[in-house]
Amino acid sequence: METREPEVIRDKEAMRRWSRGMRSQGKTIGLVPTMGFLHDGHLSLVRQSLTLSDVTVVSIYVNPGQFSPTEDLSTYPSDFSGDLAKLAAVSSSGSVIAVFNPKNLYDYDGGRNKKTISGDGRGGGKVVSCVEEGGLGHETWVRVESLEKGLCGKSRPVFFRGVATIVTKLFNIVEPDVAMFGKKDYQQWRLIKRMVRDLDFGIEIVGSDIAREKDGLAMSSRNVHLSAEDRQRALSISRSLAMAKASAEQGQTSCKELKNMIISELVGAAGRIDYVEIVDQETLQGVEDIKSGVVVCVAAWFGTVRLIDNIEINVTV
Ligand code: AMP
Repeated sequence: METREPEVIRDKEAMRRWSRGMRSQGKTIGLVPTMGFLHDGHLSLVRQSLTLSDVTVVSIYVNPGQFSPTEDLSTYPSDFSGDLAKLAAVSSSGSVIAVFNPKNLYDYDGGRNKKTISGDGRGGGKVVSCVEEGGLGHETWVRVESLEKGLCGKSRPVFFRGVATIVTKLFNIVEPDVAMFGKKDYQQWRLIKRMVRDLDFGIEIVGSDIAREKDGLAMSSRNVHLSAEDRQRALSISRSLAMAKASAEQGQTSCKELKNMIISELVGAAGRIDYVEIVDQETLQGVEDIKSGVVVCVAAWFGTVRLIDNIEINVTV
């Protein structure tokens, strides 16, 4: 099969021109936002986008706005040429993929007006993102007020504000018809869907199933930082989620019992738990007894790596 090197676009005006050029030819545009270091999870989103739209834009951009200064922005893995090769392998003859790889989406004036937060560099004790710490005067943020608060939002207070803002920027630059998000980041997917509804973006948001390694580990760019031992221990996440789902399907409706089952597996594997929550699939509010569709969400540290995973349970009682 013929493969095509994706076209790489680094400038946001050029990106917009490319998209508008495609649209003027009557083509529909799919967007797959990523932070690069692509794996099969990302590629499954790209494949789905290729089936849903005429051309696909894969953005590769590690968004400083969603990291706090204490998080792993500087060690986030990257392999740009490897990413291009993987995308070339995915694109079959006739399919068009462009890669949008901007240098800095928060730099509005070439860095001439660099503004930093005074005091300790962290906004005087306020929680800030890397953009505010060494920032360039960005001050407009998109908040999805309830959905951003629970689950990952508790330990990462600027994360979803950064995600919603960068996705808005990408939507405004790429102007896609459809955008793909992985259910691996369940809260992110729900939040973006809500943002699109609330702010009337004319973009369809598609949620894609979690791609897993053969042994069950949810694929993640961060897995590369796991030691062999921690990787083995981290299998307790997917294993305990599957056990909880099986137990719920056999009639266990108590979320306390199900959460305890997961917690004991994770603790038994020396995981440091951030949260284990069972929440309504749409509102992401905690549930005590399973009566309708829920999602079981886990975040836990193995060694220096924070991993997230989840499983939907659709039993009705
Ligand atoms: P990231 O590069 O981690 O920001 O992820 C980019 C997109 O890929 C997001 O929509 C993620 O939810 C999605 N994604 C990441 N890992 C997986 C996976 N294992 N399965 C499905 N989608 C994923």
